[in-house]
Amino acid sequence: MQLGAARFVAGETLDECVVVLRRLNEQGLHANTTLLGEGVLEPGETESVVGAYRTIVDRIADEQLRANVALKLTHLGLEIDEELAYENLRTLAEHAATRGGFIRIDMEQSQFVDATLRIYRRLREAGIDAVGTVLQSYLYRTPADLEALLPLEPNLRLVKGAYLEAPSVAYPKKSDVDAAYVRLLERMLLEGGHTAVATHDSALVQHTIRFAADHGIDRDRFEFQMLYGVRPQLQLDLVRRGYKVLVATPYGPEWYPYLMRRLGERPANLLFFLKNTIRG
Ligand SMILES: Cc1cc2nc3c(=O)[nH]c(=O)nc-3n(C[C@H](O)[C@H](O)[C@H](O)COP(=O)(O)OP(=O)(O)OC[C@H]3O[C@@H](n4cnc5c(N)ncnc54)[C@H](O)[C@@H]3O)c2cc1C
Repeated sequence: MQLGAARFVAGETLDECVVVLRRLNEQGLHANTTLLGEGVLEPGETESVVGAYRTIVDRIADEQLRANVALKLTHLGLEIDEELAYENLRTLAEHAATRGGFIRIDMEQSQFVDATLRIYRRLREAGIDAVGTVLQSYLYRTPADLEALLPLEPNLRLVKGAYLEAPSVAYPKKSDVDAAYVRLLERMLLEGGHTAVATHDSALVQHTIRFAADHGIDRDRFEFQMLYGVRPQLQLDLVRRGYKVLVATPYGPEWYPYLMRRLGERPANLLFFLKNTIRG
């Protein structure tokens, strides 16, 4: 943590994270939190992850934070058994619903997309509506996935995609990923449901604002989402302009893979990290 991870991760404990969530709320920002961890391979371990998330949901409600939860299905056992992950998530989502909470299912590597969308659909068909998921614009399959989801009036976060994927499944060129993002974004905004525009790309933020204004799309139909520690000034500028901004604010002792993804996205972050490491 002292080595620079604290810029991107809100501590190792829930107590540390709650301090950060409250500070973000005081600045007019919404937040979500994630107990960092993924790829759990022991069924017993998923029980403790579910327990930890119950505690998070309760703490958010008790402290009246404007925050919700985002989690990874591989943290709840998706690599062990899809049914186990579904049951774990259903338990949590039902609990969150009793406390006025909301759960976002993050999207992971492409081999998990089918199962993730199946689980999201099953929850919605079981009448659990305070859940959302994520679509990644780098995948060729995403326009078809979006069309299939639209009848559910889904709550979707749109991202470019953070994992290393083969050119057989994802656009290798950034310009193609960006162009696909725009097409998906416009389709989502024009259809029902709620869109979380999750990007730090100023051009896409501006495009969203302009497109929504031109098409009479209410501000409560979409929100911006950014990562804790990334472009904080842009986050606050948007709040000042009256837009909802949610800051994804993860915590936990297993912060290493998360930090590596953030560093991989931007060499400048690596420099920042190294400087702090040397100073530390
Ligand atoms: C709230 C949120 C949730 C996410 N959830 C998922 C998920 O469930 N699944 C998934 O695959 N991916 C997820 N991602 C990651 C996403 O897929 C991208 O990898 C990441 O957001 C970088 O792409 P970008 O859209 O910000 O734009 P880029 O095209 O990467 O960058 C545009 C500009 O934004 C700035 N910027 C971008 N990233 C950084 C950074 N790390 N540090 C500093 N500046 C930066 C730079 O100025 C850059 O020029 C999420 C991202 C966000 C914001």
